[in-house]
Amino acid sequence: MAKPTGFIEFKRETIKETSPLERIKHWEEFKEKFPLEKRKKQAARCMDCGIPFCNSGVLINGMTSGCPLGNLIPEWNELVYKGLWLDAIERLYKTNNFPEFTGRVCPAPCEGSCTVGINLPQVTIKNIEYDIAEMAYTLGWVRPQIPENRTGKKIGVIGSGPSGLACAEQLNIAGHWVTVFERADRVGGLLTYGIPNMKLDKKIIQKRVDVMKSSGIEFKTNTEVGVDIKASELLENYDAIVLATGSTAPRDLQVEGRNQKGIHFAMEFLKKNTKSYLDSNHSDGQFISAQNKNVVIIGGGDTGTDCVATSIRHGCKSVVQLEILPEPSAQRTDDNPWPQWPKTLKVDYGQEESIEKFGKDPRLYCQMTKSFVGDEHGNVTGIEVAEVEWKKSVSGGMVPVEIPSTQKILPADLVLIAMGFLGPENSLLKEFGVETDPRTNIKAQYGKFKTNVPKVFGAGDARRGQSLVVWAINEGRGVAREVDKFLMGTSNLAK
Ligand code: FAD
Repeated sequence: MAKPTGFIEFKRETIKETSPLERIKHWEEFKEKFPLEKRKKQAARCMDCGIPFCNSGVLINGMTSGCPLGNLIPEWNELVYKGLWLDAIERLYKTNNFPEFTGRVCPAPCEGSCTVGINLPQVTIKNIEYDIAEMAYTLGWVRPQIPENRTGKKIGVIGSGPSGLACAEQLNIAGHWVTVFERADRVGGLLTYGIPNMKLDKKIIQKRVDVMKSSGIEFKTNTEVGVDIKASELLENYDAIVLATGSTAPRDLQVEGRNQKGIHFAMEFLKKNTKSYLDSNHSDGQFISAQNKNVVIIGGGDTGTDCVATSIRHGCKSVVQLEILPEPSAQRTDDNPWPQWPKTLKVDYGQEESIEKFGKDPRLYCQMTKSFVGDEHGNVTGIEVAEVEWKKSVSGGMVPVEIPSTQKILPADLVLIAMGFLGPENSLLKEFGVETDPRTNIKAQYGKFKTNVPKVFGAGDARRGQSLVVWAINEGRGVAREVDKFLMGTSNLAK
């Protein structure tokens, strides 16, 4: 245990961030330096509670509680407190291939189930993970992992998001030859072209990819399987195939006026923005600009928040984020006890920036979009919304019911649809002959990851549905182990 009285002596303190009004002037990350002494004190708050729900990684009431990777959190907290950074790094890498990603972008279900959090602010687990991951690079610990022996087996991984990357790294450790096929021009999946640079600097991903390349993993970018290379060719040339193609088919909103100009899917907006930023610092103009526009984002989740922050950096005139659900409560409700994921109101970076810049939280709750309004040139000019209340339906579920006379039109020159994803794109699955489940995801049992097609496996968002980076890494590790077993009869890879 780090320090028996740590959680009593020290208050929770998170890494300081540059003020919203400063950071919206650029696209860089905005975490500031955290002194070593403070890091130790934060680690000392872990009480090594005996049954650490923080690393249990289970679903309770359909929500993730604890770390899906089973991160050995109390152990590395103690090691950080004692200043044993190398040991802490080793302990962290036992369960997580990419803590430099999760330390930045994970919503931290571990913190939601931290025992200290029952009646005090929880341990700053995510910040400590970030610190250890940064220290690993500072100390030169992140080195190529070249296996002593090669098995001669060849595996094709399709998709270079966190699940494909974790799978590739694990299979390479096991001695197999791995080729990752990626249709985009850069590796990383949504780490690269979904999450904006200020939340996850793309240099961090490139550093990791460079290490993976030096470890013997081959990356083929600008290569869309099913278009540039046939599924049959992969089946012929590889001993196993892993489909880690993500959940990329966006959910649309087919209401009146949908075909007007200025209405885009969030991912088109975010991807073009990051690509233009990386290619030319935006000087090529190859992005959808929110400058001087009234922006309305439909969807109150993480993707919507990334659109808020991106629009503000472009210099938008105003920004509104519409959410159909009610505003969450500030505190846990009785039906959402610890150690469940707390369904409480969170103010994320995009909302913080809107509050500072425009003086208000951009989110409007219980809002249903009824139609889009446009001008005579076919450009969107507004969005018609109405308030809803949530009522029990005859089947017992909660449904939104429009409240009469609450319609209004919000001005909008740019509308971004961030309503989630419906599953993986179907054409590639068809080409492989892979069956889908009722939610149109790849049909492959969790833990086995095998599809109906011999030697073809599925993992990550493509199998699980839209989820989190931490789950994608979990599935990448899991599928690697199953592929290794399939090829070798047994596997020493950790889950
Ligand atoms: P993806 O990351 O989607 O990667 C799939 C890859 O497969 C893509 O690169 C795609 O180009 C490639 N591909 C698809 N088809 C083919 C083909 N035929 N041939 C070759 N390549 C192909 N989660 C968090 O935990 N924290 C966050 O802050 C967060 N923010 C998010 C922000 C946005 C805007 C979005 C959309 C998601 C966010 N998520 C976040 C969710 C998280 O990014 C995903 O759950 C995770 O990336 C899924 O990983 P994956 O490897 O399964 O798929």
